[in-house]
Amino acid sequence: MYLVDYHTHTCCSPDSEARLSDMARAAQQAGARELCTTDHCDLQQADGTPLAAWDWTPILRQYEEAAFFRYREDFRLQLGLELGGGYTDPARAEEILSGAPLDFVIGSVHNQSPELGGRDLFYLDYRDEALCRQLLEDYMANLLRQAGQSCYDSLGHIIYPLRYINGRAGHHMTLDPWEDQLEAVLRTVVETGHAIEVNTHGGREVTDWLPILRRYRALGGELITLGSDAHRPAHVAKGLEQAAQLLRETGFRWVTVYRRREPEQRRL
Ligand SMILES: [Zn+2]
Ligand SMILES: [Zn+2]
Repeated sequence: MYLVDYHTHTCCSPDSEARLSDMARAAQQAGARELCTTDHCDLQQADGTPLAAWDWTPILRQYEEAAFFRYREDFRLQLGLELGGGYTDPARAEEILSGAPLDFVIGSVHNQSPELGGRDLFYLDYRDEALCRQLLEDYMANLLRQAGQSCYDSLGHIIYPLRYINGRAGHHMTLDPWEDQLEAVLRTVVETGHAIEVNTHGGREVTDWLPILRRYRALGGELITLGSDAHRPAHVAKGLEQAAQLLRETGFRWVTVYRRREPEQRRL
């Protein structure tokens, strides 16, 4: 199996202290053939205000410093980005993406709509289930907006709000009430030649992806990236073997990797 981790963070993200070289070492020790580093660039900040200046220097410097890992025969270190809220300002998104020799871009929705204040979902209170439904309604609409943009390669963690709604607040909600919106999202991804990712959230979310994988496959989806969303070396590649197994069981034969933003398929 060709094990890859295409969603990882380092100290160039505000919520990680990991060094890229330590993440790469952890990936090798886990038997991964590729690690793609995808630090955060959020066009909507945590409080909803638009991103001010963006500077590639720390990310590019760290990537240069990890050159040892980049030129090994049995392992590739790829340069990526997790772009949040690209749909809120597509021109700005494209401008930022053109500033680095990126292999891969995850397009994520981390925030509420700008009209609702645009706050990062991480900071919201999920105790009220009615409020959770409102948040999901808004989230699914934004996910569809994001899916139609060109400023990404793989649509990030589709089930993201459930991390907080179920994982943190203890509800048992699914995306079932939004199946029409989900179908529209997946159809848009397929029609525009993009990928979805199976994001294991450090190994905590694997089987949760089954309904989405089934629907994606029924719509003809073939491009799928795998990522742990690790913010520390101990979480690198966590749950990815199980995710690959789930893909095989759902009828997929390939995992997608990227070279300068062009997809290539590898046998699972
Ligand atoms: Zn994310
Ligand atoms: Zn992430």
